[in-house]
Amino acid sequence: MESRLRDLAVEALFPRFCVACRREGALMCQACLDQWTPVPPQVSCAFCGRVGSPRTCAECREDRYLDGLSYFVPYGNALIKDLIKSWKFHGDRSVEEVFVKSLRRATPRMSPPLAPYWVTHVPLHESRLRSRGFDQAQQVATWAGELFGLPVETLVRRKQKTIQQSQTSHEQRRVGEMDHVFELMPGIVVPDHVLLCDDVFTSGTTMDAAARLLKENGAKTIWGFTLAKGSS
Ligand SMILES: [Zn+2]
Ligand SMILES: [Zn+2]
Repeated sequence: MESRLRDLAVEALFPRFCVACRREGALMCQACLDQWTPVPPQVSCAFCGRVGSPRTCAECREDRYLDGLSYFVPYGNALIKDLIKSWKFHGDRSVEEVFVKSLRRATPRMSPPLAPYWVTHVPLHESRLRSRGFDQAQQVATWAGELFGLPVETLVRRKQKTIQQSQTSHEQRRVGEMDHVFELMPGIVVPDHVLLCDDVFTSGTTMDAAARLLKENGAKTIWGFTLAKGSS
């Protein structure tokens, strides 16, 4: 109730405009919500961009652990950028309805290759979780579980705080930096096939570090699933 009142106060002070058609009223108006189907991305290797398959290409597989990636739209899509920013950095949870509806429409093309997956997420560090209030990656995992009818479980947690990606230069985000960042949740059994979720795939370093940990502990397939993918 309190948060609803706060939302109303915020709306009165800062009128909202639909991110798609700019009509005043909501973050995305009903008309846009019902039909927003962004152009699907070209299927390609998530790491080098080689076109043709969502699987990690043979060359990239040599030092990568993630087997492939399904994502909703490129992060270059101005609309998705606005939505994710409002969600992540301004804590606007009305964005979630937009994602859920659009993901449902995109489910066929976002399906991972057939396997009995368990869904999990790349976890945020606890201190960042406190500042953001909720873990977006975990939310994406919940949606993926619902969309594909798969079990969801937290398999991985963070061991130590890492510098926020936007604060480090690209050069610093190399292989090795993410080593020993994650550990398995105590008492879990690593499934053979894991659908690993995050909100945005950027360089893939973080997701691949989690994939590595899972594979080193017995997983056979790790398929990535994100809302957006930036160019690395
Ligand atoms: Zn609209
Ligand atoms: Zn590649």
